[in-house]
Amino acid sequence: MSDIKRSSRKIFIGSLVIGGDSPVAVQSMAATQTQDLEETARQIEILEQAGADVIRIAVDNEADVVALETLRKKFPNPIFSVDLQENYRLAPKVAPLVNKIRYNPGHLYHLDKDKSILQKVEFIVDAARSYNCAIRIGVNCGSIDPEYKEKFKEDQIEGMVRCAVDHCKILDDLNFTNYCVSLKDSDFDKVIDANRRFAKERPDVPLHLGVTEAGLPPEGVIKTRIAFEQLISAGIGDTIRVSLTLPNEQKGEEIAVGREILKDIEQGRFRSVPKNFLDGINIIACPSCSRVENDKFVDLAQEVRQITKYAESHKITIAVMGCRVNGPGETDDADLGLWCGPLKVNLKKGTEALGAYSYDEILSRLKLELDLIISSRVNLKKGTEALGSYSYEEILGELKRELDLIISTRIGQEPIAK
Ligand code: SF4
Repeated sequence: MSDIKRSSRKIFIGSLVIGGDSPVAVQSMAATQTQDLEETARQIEILEQAGADVIRIAVDNEADVVALETLRKKFPNPIFSVDLQENYRLAPKVAPLVNKIRYNPGHLYHLDKDKSILQKVEFIVDAARSYNCAIRIGVNCGSIDPEYKEKFKEDQIEGMVRCAVDHCKILDDLNFTNYCVSLKDSDFDKVIDANRRFAKERPDVPLHLGVTEAGLPPEGVIKTRIAFEQLISAGIGDTIRVSLTLPNEQKGEEIAVGREILKDIEQGRFRSVPKNFLDGINIIACPSCSRVENDKFVDLAQEVRQITKYAESHKITIAVMGCRVNGPGETDDADLGLWCGPLKVNLKKGTEALGAYSYDEILSRLKLELDLIISSRVNLKKGTEALGSYSYEEILGELKRELDLIISTRIGQEPIAK
């Protein structure tokens, strides 16, 4: 990429090389249930046509492995990567069918509690090595390894970085070097910070970049662009995914948007962020995957945006997640969170569960809670201009910030005394 220098080493994902001076690879993931062969094959076709360098497929159980086998026969050429969710024991079964395996250190706890993390990672590495697969150590802020979460309570980002660095050391000690790392969050500032800290410590390890749950376009695109512009222009990042909440037929847009961002960065075109971006309501939504519990999820995310438009000047975060696996954890930091089950949508306020509601009821219940939050806030104004509403914890800091701004403007306007 032009003048941008990266110091990562090269790794091999089938015939694709990432790292070093290789082009930044663009990937996406099938959003369908893997066992739905017709729909998943359609997703693969869409992503292939869009020019995806890597197509990711989620595998959770033996039936998914059987489906993957069928899909591989139908599509022998694309670079496939499997996201092993909780079931690390499937590694030897999926490795012969794919080119890369991703494991999440935060999910290694769920099975075989009598085995150590080291034993489980060694098991995955053995499978990858036997079939010439690459590995991605995928750390997510929303599902961080409990040990690191507890140890780094005051600095979540450091917890992510330490977890990633420690897992790199495990793979290094096992003499396995064909791996990359990702450190993701739905907050682009955290993504930038985590990847910078990691790259400083392990510049040799290729990084896969992404802002998880970036949400609906155009906000999801802007959040992702901010993170990629900061990191890739500094030589950090070897492969990317733009995670957008889109109907399945439009999944190819993730690839097109990723390529557009890369081209802009390469040509030094940095897009400015719209004024007041995320100063008001912030809707985060997962990009959906095979785990989505109800096909209504994407519509629900779009409807949440529609019905909350009246509250757009209020600094409130609403998270909309597609499944029970990551939904409960990934909504903890939002003011209001929704995660989908097959028939009901679960509503949360921060970490507090408020109940489960049918897909028909949920929007009115959400609006009720949103109104309650808004009514409990303090509105801040500057003259006749509304500056937004803030919680009682936030208002004093915000007031001071505005006051400092006014004072600095006035000092700047004072005539110089002779
Ligand atoms: S929250 Fe669930 S459905 Fe959404 S992308 Fe994550 S795993 Fe998939």
